[in-house]
Amino acid sequence: MIILDGKKASQGLVTDLKQKITQLKATGTLPTLAAILVGDDPASQIYLRSKKKRAAKLGVRLVTTKLPDATSTAELTTIIQKLNQDDHIHAIMLEMPLPAHINSQQAILAIDPRKDVDGVHPLNLGYLFSGHAHAIPNTPYGILKLLDHYHLSVKHQNVVVVGRSVVVGRPLAALLLNQDATVTIAHRFTTDLTKLTQQADILVTAVGQPNMISAEAIKPGAIVIDVGINRLANGKLAGDVDYASVARVARALTPVPGGVGPMTSLMLFYQTVQLARRQTNHG
Ligand code: NDP
Repeated sequence: MIILDGKKASQGLVTDLKQKITQLKATGTLPTLAAILVGDDPASQIYLRSKKKRAAKLGVRLVTTKLPDATSTAELTTIIQKLNQDDHIHAIMLEMPLPAHINSQQAILAIDPRKDVDGVHPLNLGYLFSGHAHAIPNTPYGILKLLDHYHLSVKHQNVVVVGRSVVVGRPLAALLLNQDATVTIAHRFTTDLTKLTQQADILVTAVGQPNMISAEAIKPGAIVIDVGINRLANGKLAGDVDYASVARVARALTPVPGGVGPMTSLMLFYQTVQLARRQTNHG
């Protein structure tokens, strides 16, 4: 069984990324990501701290805007528009979840699609679904890069994606379709999920329920990508897949942590650099 190691695969991309950053800097461009955090969601604060460390290591500038929980949708969109107009900012990301009183769709619509590093603006999702991807949500993009790293082609494959969120399941299905896979998306209302997953050459789970998928739900020899990150009562992290049992039947499997997670966090910077190259006519 192949362990699809996201740390190793992301290291391979770092070399290429550092080269592109050096090239950009040589032409006077410092690739810059603006992150906006509204309120004090503890998980978002942890993610932001780890992004800061990563940005510093790579040589990408990270500008953070921290706003109080009471910020209104109008105030947030005004701040986003200022960042849109700043030529030194190449990528903008909104830390999710936003406080409940904020209209998140309106906030997303305020982001200049050329700077939408999360690929969540409807224009970018439209490009993706029409087969002309521009900015892509980072998790699905990372999954494609992980499969590429291990030379696992999706062409001709029956892929089942469990989960249909706008940041994972839906864009991943579009990307896989663009690469000639046959894709089925499952969700909470899918009837007989196990029967469906048993037919998958490639199974992706992006649900958020620990150990919901065990060996009997897997086609022998399948490739299994576990996106789920679940905190267990004992403090440990687990995926949606029961790793020990699935590892006995799968051909390849992502661990949690250390599979999809490291790819997602790298893709944020990978795309920041891609957007900076485009905006300065180097990409
Ligand atoms: P969402 O909560 O937005 O989506 C979860 C999806 O799972 C929904 O589409 C839901 O269906 C579906 N679902 C829930 N229960 C079932 C069920 N019993 N059977 C089938 N489908 C079900 O989550 P996200 O997409 O944002 O994240 C999913 C998981 O991935 C989480 O654990 C998250 O922490 C993790 N994650 C990991 C990342 C990484 O880098 N590794 C990055 C992003 C997320 P319905 O639409 O019908 O409600």
